[in-house]
Amino acid sequence: MSKIDFERTREVDVDDIVKTIPVVCSWCNKIYHIKQWSVAAGSPTGITHGICPDCEEKQQIELDKFLNEKDQNEK
Ligand SMILES: [Zn+2]
Repeated sequence: MSKIDFERTREVDVDDIVKTIPVVCSWCNKIYHIKQWSVAAGSPTGITHGICPDCEEKQQIELDKFLNEKDQNEK
């Protein structure tokens, strides 16, 4: 990388701004978290998806149930 390229990259970093992005649960569509991250100016932002603690717990219970049933079927 030449010196000029490096300086141009630094300029972009200075323009970075911190945006707040809501994280929506894919299961119940509830906003459960607000994320803050630094993005380059002009880059598209929107919402991001994840799983909220409530749904994560439900999924874990379902998974345990599924694994238990599988276990019993195999015996
Ligand atoms: Zn949820």
